[in-house]
Amino acid sequence: MLQTTHQSITAAAKRLGMDQAEIDALLQLDALHQFDITLDNGKMFTAFRAQHNKHRGPYKGGIRFHEKVTAEEVQALATLMSLKTAAIGLPLGGGKGGVVVNPKELTMGELEELSRKYVRGLQQHIGPEQDIPAPDVNTNAQIMDWMVDEYEALTGDQSRATFTGKSLKLGGSQGREAATGKGGVIALREYLAVSGYEIQHKPLKIAVQGIGNVGEYFIRTVEAEHADWKIVALSDSQNTIVNPDDASRVVAFKQAGGKLAEYDAEVLPADAIFAQDVDVLVLAALDNAITDNNKEKVHATILLELANGPIDEAAEKYLLQNGKQIIPDIIANAGGVIVSYLEWRQNMEREQWSLKQVNDELTIYMKQAVEAMYRYARQHNTTLKEAAIALAIKRLT
Ligand code: NAD
Repeated sequence: MLQTTHQSITAAAKRLGMDQAEIDALLQLDALHQFDITLDNGKMFTAFRAQHNKHRGPYKGGIRFHEKVTAEEVQALATLMSLKTAAIGLPLGGGKGGVVVNPKELTMGELEELSRKYVRGLQQHIGPEQDIPAPDVNTNAQIMDWMVDEYEALTGDQSRATFTGKSLKLGGSQGREAATGKGGVIALREYLAVSGYEIQHKPLKIAVQGIGNVGEYFIRTVEAEHADWKIVALSDSQNTIVNPDDASRVVAFKQAGGKLAEYDAEVLPADAIFAQDVDVLVLAALDNAITDNNKEKVHATILLELANGPIDEAAEKYLLQNGKQIIPDIIANAGGVIVSYLEWRQNMEREQWSLKQVNDELTIYMKQAVEAMYRYARQHNTTLKEAAIALAIKRLT
């Protein structure tokens, strides 16, 4: 993963005319903190925090609790966070942390102790102006609450601005849960506006792969804000539902424990989602959803990447050659990190904004990012992804 990340940044930097010394400086990690955490019962875990680039502001990025966390993985993910925050235009750098652990094997008490001891190990290297972690794989608001409480106990800092993704009670922000899905809707709306895309179907037809957190809020936002768009298909890992009367009712059915196979509508296998006759395919499930094996099935003209890396390199090349437009993950799924930044700002300013204030700011950042990416791509004859990465690199150097 680290190698692939470095290769793609190097290729983009070379296109910008950067020399090897400049590229090496861009790839260089500022710091990798590695330490052991020992619980009172003797269980031991390895922990990391990678800090990539602080040129634009404090390091920002999640902490994951997973058995497969490695130093290389957190380094790659921290580097990608620097690119993402720069591509969006946030005054933040890139960081990522992790603990090599399967949290499902811990009791609640052990999980709390692990979270608090992670903070003790990193106390000198994090802080509101230094490094601001957030939830990631297998971490959540409860874990951030323990961490911010521990940081406050150790340092006396009462801003709560050292961690984002906290509960509302401990300084979290309105709108965080919906942010990535909602940000995806704003990205799509802005892309349609700036590109002058000629809609083939009225209303605009959309298929959504994945109805977890991101897919759910994408669908709910479309239904609340866009009478001129229609979700005509949606899928989970087992099935695709076609032409539901109301897509959010399908989501609610699944959340209540229902199986899509039993939903009262046309039910197809999961991979039928790709072949739907729609304008937009939203990829909100997992990485490498579209590969060499299924790239030819894709019918939509626009692909919105809400998952990270949902289209592999070979498939991307094929789809672009066949006239598809891909709105890249680095911008399309940035709603979460934007609202994380807004949470930090609220904490720093000792404020609690309304949902409307948060969503208005989210919209401003998303619109600016999509517009700048589109303009750059047109001016330099690049793909949208190349444009977003080029803009990010320019802002990082
Ligand atoms: P989630 O675990 O809540 O949901 C993922 C959904 O994908 C699940 O409902 C699962 O059933 C479904 N799925 C798995 N395999 C599938 C398949 N083959 N076909 C269709 N559906 C399938 O996760 P999430 O938080 O919604 O995140 C989705 C993606 O977005 C992930 O790649 C994540 O890294 C990325 N992402 C999430 C956020 C965020 O704020 N949650 C931010 C940026 C990126």
